[in-house]
Amino acid sequence: MAKVSPYHTNSQEYPPKHRNVYHDHDDCPDGKRIKPQHRESGTGGKSRCDECIRLG
Ligand SMILES: [Zn+2]
Repeated sequence: MAKVSPYHTNSQEYPPKHRNVYHDHDDCPDGKRIKPQHRESGTGGKSRCDECIRLG
């Protein structure tokens, strides 16, 4: 498990629950669903993902 720079997606391909958060773990199950071409760096002004919080 590793921390990475924050990333998020704004793609309409994902449900709002996934669009409204950012991730900072490379093994977050929700973060992993974001395809590389839909991945944007930074927090995007979003809240931190619950899974990432749980991972630490
Ligand atoms: Zn996450």
